[in-house]
Amino acid sequence: MEFSKRILTWYEQHGRKDLPWQQQPSAYRVWVSEIMLQQTQVATVIPYYNRFMGRFPDIAALARADQDQVLHYWSGLGYYARARHLHAAAQQMVEHHGSRFPESYEDVLALPGIGRSTAGAILALAFGQHHPILDGNVKRVLSRYYSIEGWPGESRVQKKLWQLAELHTPDKQAAAYTQAIMDLGATLCTRSNPACNVCPLNHGCLARINGRQADFPPPRPRKHKPVRETTMLLLTNDRNEVVIEKRPAAGIWGGLWSFPEISPGDAVDEWCRDAAGFSVNRTEQWPVVRHTFSHFHLDITPVVVIAGIPLSRVMDGGGRLWYNMNSQDELGFAAPVGKLLGRLAEWQEQ
Ligand code: SF4
Repeated sequence: MEFSKRILTWYEQHGRKDLPWQQQPSAYRVWVSEIMLQQTQVATVIPYYNRFMGRFPDIAALARADQDQVLHYWSGLGYYARARHLHAAAQQMVEHHGSRFPESYEDVLALPGIGRSTAGAILALAFGQHHPILDGNVKRVLSRYYSIEGWPGESRVQKKLWQLAELHTPDKQAAAYTQAIMDLGATLCTRSNPACNVCPLNHGCLARINGRQADFPPPRPRKHKPVRETTMLLLTNDRNEVVIEKRPAAGIWGGLWSFPEISPGDAVDEWCRDAAGFSVNRTEQWPVVRHTFSHFHLDITPVVVIAGIPLSRVMDGGGRLWYNMNSQDELGFAAPVGKLLGRLAEWQEQ
């Protein structure tokens, strides 16, 4: 039996068919799920997906929302450029595609945040179009089945994998096949301990035959991650408020709200006086919190600052505001900032 038939037969019996985005599937629902599933496991995505869909049920609702609201519903999922691109793409669909998800591959590929594999997956799953996909799961299955040496991020290896993905994508049943091979990678051909004994591909899989499942795909060549340091000021008052500021659109945590930052070694009271217009009553330094990005570690030193009397009526702008920690405002915070906010609220109650 050929490769795709084996996978399709397995999928009919064992594939996942109860995921939220598989219910009343539409291109919009498939698209949001595919973007959330990039870099993130299904179990983590499901509650985020359900909340996101509850708040932004269609393209028009997403396009109408403020970026703050969109980031609020993404807070904690990470890789926030995904949310900003989703929002921008929804606005483009309203403007250029009559608030509908486009059906042409070129139009989909032209949208922000959608690459070749995601475009193929959405069009296959939502419209049954024939397109190969090559997400992390598919890369793992094909790398093992053919014992392909080399990190899949290398262009030579990637080219080979795309050729194989194309070769095996059937003309018919593209939607089922796309879901099936993603499921097989996620549930059987897992990163560690793949379930080869029940895998429909086990007879032809070179990695299994040679007992080399752990060798494929080879990991990204290791690079030493540099450590960056920052000091976050949790400038607070006796009204349960804390100063937050909006980060620039580009760069880490772009568009999210965070605490003002100073370089390690900068004087806290000087910053408070010159930039925020406050004298300092008291400060308390908390232990360093490490947050790891794909390319570096960020060591955050949180310093709680109890504000004294205002020296001027307004802060120096820069998108800063006093945020009430009991407020229900829909703002997006990066995960470590959200955690520090929670700790600060508890600390103030003591
Ligand atoms: S036989 Fe094992 S290694 Fe090969 S595709 Fe199946 S689960 Fe993956």
